[in-house]
This record gives sequence, structure tokens and C-alpha cells, in this order.
Amino acid sequence: MDMTDFGYQQVPSDEKQKLVRNVFESVAKNYDIMNDVMSLGIHRLWKKIFVNELYPRPHAKLLDLAGGTGDISFQWLDRNGGPVLLTDINKAMLSVGRDRATNKGYFGGNIDFACINAEEIPLQDCSVDRVSIAFGLRNCTNKEKVLKEAYRVLRPGGRFCCLEFSKVQIPVFSKIYDEWSFKVLPQMGKFIAKDAESYRYLAESIRMFPDQETLLQMMNNAGMQNTKYQNLSGGIAAIHSGWRF
Ligand code: SAM
Repeated sequence: MDMTDFGYQQVPSDEKQKLVRNVFESVAKNYDIMNDVMSLGIHRLWKKIFVNELYPRPHAKLLDLAGGTGDISFQWLDRNGGPVLLTDINKAMLSVGRDRATNKGYFGGNIDFACINAEEIPLQDCSVDRVSIAFGLRNCTNKEKVLKEAYRVLRPGGRFCCLEFSKVQIPVFSKIYDEWSFKVLPQMGKFIAKDAESYRYLAESIRMFPDQETLLQMMNNAGMQNTKYQNLSGGIAAIHSGWRF
């Protein structure tokens, strides 16, 4: 049987999607507040840098994969980006995103929503100018498939950007970060979101994700060109980007 990781557990590949879905159904309502608390607000800065890397342009069309509650899509629009398709495999996350869009007054013309698996994007080849995936690739079962699909739907001249947790580069910092992730985060999850298990998965899934160089190689294998990455906060997170020429 084909197995894959779900945090530190090995599970059959076709079960991971269901397990991940349970996690995000459980955290959807508290997702935004938990992000602020867990990262002490730093995820906002990371996302700002990430959207810069997407080079927003008024006529550029963005496909936001695993877009969840919409942070990247909304910043893209705020920064004068063109039409955006906010997608996620999870209806609960997307529904929070839709409500936020309404509250923020984003509805009307420039934003659409779709429940989409990033591994099988139902769009034509060469149909978008940018593809983003922020803190989403880690949760996908077949990451190579996501990268290939992202490349396929990009127009020549289009750009792919991935924001994801990565490998901390400073050893002493790494110890503090481990304490924070494995001790503090599940406790916070327990008290704020009444869900310690999902936040334990979060910490474990981060450790299982390919490091900076491995992800870069995977993007090259998917056909992307001029790929590069930049570390954020000492490698806690990293932005990977590549072009389709
Ligand atoms: N991009 C948002 C952000 O940065 O705040 C949300 C990130 S959230 C940590 C991860 C998201 O990935 C969840 O909303 C989850 O439903 C979604 N996801 C997991 N597997 C997916 C898949 N195969 N295709 C599309 N989305 C997926």
C-alpha cells in the first residue's frame, strides 16, 4: 500500500486528504486568531513579503491555491493585483474566506471562490499569470503533483510562489522553536481553539516538510525556471519562487 506522512504518522496516501480535511474543519473558525497568537503576528509580515514576490499587477490573474480564509488573495487585491480565484479543498475554510471578503467589501467582479484540490486543478493550460500557495503545500498528499499542476496552468511569463514553514538555520534558535512548537502551541490550541491535536499535527507536519534546497529541486523538476528562495525569520519560513518562460 502507498503510504505517506500525516505529521509523524505514516498513513495510507488516500487517507491523508481526509485527515487533513478534519484538521482544517476543526480549526476553521479559530484559524485567523490562532495564526496571530501562534506566530505573535509575524505571519502578517511574512505574507506581506510574499505578496511582494508575486508582483501584483492590475491585469495579472492570480490563482490562490489552498487559500483558506483569504489572507493572500485579499492582500493581492489591496496591492492592485488583478482578478483572483481563491481556492481551497476545504469548504469550511473557504466559507470563512467568503465571509471575510463580504465584510471587507471585496465582493464584486475581482474575486471568485472555488473548492479545488491543488493536485488536480480544473483549469486550462496557460490560463493564469500567478499561482500562489501559502502554508498549503505541506498539507497536500502529492506535492510533486501540485507543483506540476501549478506549472501547467501558468502562462508563459507567469510566476509561482510558495510560502511555507521550512528548516531553521540557526541551531540555538532551533531548540527554542522546538519547545515553542511542541509544548506551547498544542497548549494554546487546547485553550483557544479547544483542539490540541490539530496544533500538534501542525508542528509535526512542519518538521516533515522538505527543506529549502529539496523544495527548490522539486520546483525545478516540475519545469519551473529561475527558481530561488529566501528565508524568513532565520528559516522558520521560506518563500520559494519560479517562473514559466
Ligand atoms: N493560505 C492560507 C493562509 O496562508 O492563511 C491558508 C493556509 S492553511 C494552513 C492550509 C490550507 O490548505 C487549508 O485551508 C486546507 O484546507 C488547504 N489544503 C489542504 N490540502 C489541500 C489540497 N490538496 N488542495 C487544496 N487545498 C488544500
